[in-house]
Amino acid sequence: MPSASQEWIVLKFGGTSVSTLERWKTIAEELRKRIAEGARPFVVCSALSGISNMLEALVEAAPGGDYEAIVSEIEERHRALAADLEVDVDELLGERFKELERLALGASLIGEASPRFHARVLAMGELMSTSLGAAYLESVGVSASWRDARQMLSAVHEPNINLNRRYLSAACECSPDAGLKSSLAEGDADVFVTQGFIASDAEGDTVLLGRGGSDTSAAYFAAKLEAERLEIWTDVPGMFSANPRDIPSARLLRQLDYDEAQELATMGAKVLHPRCIAPVRNGQIPLHIRCTQRPELEGTVISGEVPNFGAQVKAISAKNDVTLISMDTLGMWQQVGFLADAFGAFKQNGLSVDLVTTSEANVTVSLDPMANALEPQTVEGLLEDLNAFCDARQIGPCAVVSLIGRNIRSILDELGPAFEVFDEQHIYLLSQAASDLNLTFVVDEDQAQKLVRKLHAQLFSERISDKLFGPTWRELFGGEMAEVAERTLWWQDRRDDLLEVAEEGAAYVYDAPTLQQKVDDVRSIDALDRVFYAMKANSHPDVLRLFEKSGIGFECVSPGEVERIVELFPDIDRERILFTPNFAPRDEYAFGFEQAGFLTLDNLHPLEAWPELFADKEVIVRLDPGRGRGHHKYVRTAGNQSKFGVAPNELDRLSELVEAAGARVVGLHAHVGSGIRTADTWSENALFLASLRDRFPELRLLNLGGGMGVPERPGQRALDVAEVSERLAKFKAAQPDFELWLEPGRYLVAQAGVLLARVTQTKQKGDINYVGLETGMNSLIRPALYGAYHEIVNLSRLDEPMTMTAEIVGPICETGDVLGHARRLPATEEGDVILVGTAGAYGRAMSSQYNLRQPAREVLLK
Ligand SMILES: *Cc1c(COP(=O)(O)O)cnc(C)c1O
Repeated sequence: MPSASQEWIVLKFGGTSVSTLERWKTIAEELRKRIAEGARPFVVCSALSGISNMLEALVEAAPGGDYEAIVSEIEERHRALAADLEVDVDELLGERFKELERLALGASLIGEASPRFHARVLAMGELMSTSLGAAYLESVGVSASWRDARQMLSAVHEPNINLNRRYLSAACECSPDAGLKSSLAEGDADVFVTQGFIASDAEGDTVLLGRGGSDTSAAYFAAKLEAERLEIWTDVPGMFSANPRDIPSARLLRQLDYDEAQELATMGAKVLHPRCIAPVRNGQIPLHIRCTQRPELEGTVISGEVPNFGAQVKAISAKNDVTLISMDTLGMWQQVGFLADAFGAFKQNGLSVDLVTTSEANVTVSLDPMANALEPQTVEGLLEDLNAFCDARQIGPCAVVSLIGRNIRSILDELGPAFEVFDEQHIYLLSQAASDLNLTFVVDEDQAQKLVRKLHAQLFSERISDKLFGPTWRELFGGEMAEVAERTLWWQDRRDDLLEVAEEGAAYVYDAPTLQQKVDDVRSIDALDRVFYAMKANSHPDVLRLFEKSGIGFECVSPGEVERIVELFPDIDRERILFTPNFAPRDEYAFGFEQAGFLTLDNLHPLEAWPELFADKEVIVRLDPGRGRGHHKYVRTAGNQSKFGVAPNELDRLSELVEAAGARVVGLHAHVGSGIRTADTWSENALFLASLRDRFPELRLLNLGGGMGVPERPGQRALDVAEVSERLAKFKAAQPDFELWLEPGRYLVAQAGVLLARVTQTKQKGDINYVGLETGMNSLIRPALYGAYHEIVNLSRLDEPMTMTAEIVGPICETGDVLGHARRLPATEEGDVILVGTAGAYGRAMSSQYNLRQPAREVLLK
């Protein structure tokens, strides 16, 4: 029986931690442990992952947007989870679903939602997730009581506050709350379950605590209950010495004090919300970060009792998308009030300043996009105001790189070698906090990664205390290949089939179920109207047949590709063929209009030189949005050097030529790169293309390009297709009158293919081991050409321990004929079958007969 004297432990579970049965099993398990230890757990949950974005889309959708689709998708997600949890969804959420439908109807009528309404809609996500969760816990024998957070957390009343702050980013009262403690103590449940992110104000209205506000809620509850500790459960096991997604050798930080954690959270480490630290610091409550997928890991502990390890850099953070404003003072520096005027201009334009440096003649400040809505017009307005009394200009996109730790000043000398990266690079701004907790540089955004990598290698290679620094990300996530192996299990399951294929010599092997899975993944993006497979990635007839059956179209870049499709599928609807020639001769355009349903034009030359070809024709125009991603950056980076696409500054000329030729632009296209694993790329393409709608009266479709990436190296994250989908759904809800197309190549085939080759010879020369294969760069040129990384395993000895490090080479007479450097293998012998993973894309398609050696043959496993 619970008793009033028991200590509280507050546990917060984020979106990915509450979205599946498996995670809920972990939650139940952890709660049982806390109860067994004699504590009383108080659980704070986020909404299921992705739901808040959908609710946001409901609020933001234009009148006439597709509200029903969003509502039914939200319902569907909760029904699916309830089915897995085996709880009665209609009983638990029937009323909530009805309320959601009413709110959606309201949203569809009012057009622009008030912040008050916005808060009510967003609160639904947490209310629903916690109802399912509490019921599940009961059903598995953890006695749990559901509580409405709005009856326990009250927003601080701030007079004169604007409505957005008041409803969407409220702060709450959180001093120790004896009333709350005793009212909970009276309940006879072992566990209480409530919502993160929401609270109520003095009028009883629902308010939100801002994005990421669930962490803050949990911290408030911990402070009110004077909890023994706060545990924040998330999808990473803690804070790291650098962002582990970029630097797999980043080390887990075992202990941080509140100041350091605050600094890290503020500087862009996204594990904790910066606002959640103050409440626990005030109550001196230890905060533990834990990982729901890996509950056995200890994670990071943030407390007031961290042993002093002396001067120490603990972490390096980088924050992109920062804009600098540089002001040359025209000799007026001595003038009284210059800074006041300058900052007055920032205030008037509603912009908050982050870092500042001043010198005789120049003042430079940074604007943080997290705190500012940086519309191009806002910055223009600011510059106009500033230019009235100084010479102001914008610099960016920049990145802020910070070293965080203790007494950084005293180790500046050690940083020397790392600054070699700045050889020819610019440091725009350097600032050292008076607290000596950070040292910050602002550099060009595209230099930041290199700088972080170099600094990390410099500062974290030695001198490492294991009390402070835990294992590396790479070690934690499963030795060499965890992520890769997890994804590529198909070849482990089909090992016998593969070994049999390899008896006949080197082969590319494709797995039909995986191909199908990948098509299904892409088709799960509901906002898409059409998907075209960019067949240059892999044009094997059996692969094409499988995709044809699944109903997607084909993006072809040459007449040969179009001909292959037409030969294989003579009756195919030509609308399923999209032809994208680049610097092709005149004939190919004529051919394209004859054979393909759609043609993408990516230069002005054809319109200028051969306008007669385009009379009365519909075309799609490929635009070059410039380097980098990010809505506003497109505008900044006109005139990019790539050979593809029409540059933004050519748009006027384009319109003239289109009109003169009598063509109609019905579509716009942007393909910004390959191997991209950041989910916002395609919705940003959509926003960029849609922003040009006024120039093209007949515009009806937006082709968002290909480029969806797959993880290649250990530690890399997979592209979150669900998030791509959510973002596109949001775009579609806001701008429903465009068809959206996607044309992935690599994503559909890369992981479904492996290259098999037998070992021909082995040798040791000096310290280096070589494992020779029967085929090499003539089959797979990506490592030689791009330095691409492919996982390599000895399929004949999958279960044997790794005992050697070797160069994996082919039989071609080139030093570059290497498939992998310094790879770990078991003791490998002639005749063993080596598997090269993630080889389904741009493998055989880019092969050659160099040295007159035939490349590996191709086999599809059904
Ligand atoms: C190559 C290419 C693609 C496919 O790129 P992936 O990175 O394989 O997805 C899509 N569109 C165009 C225009 C391309 O050239």
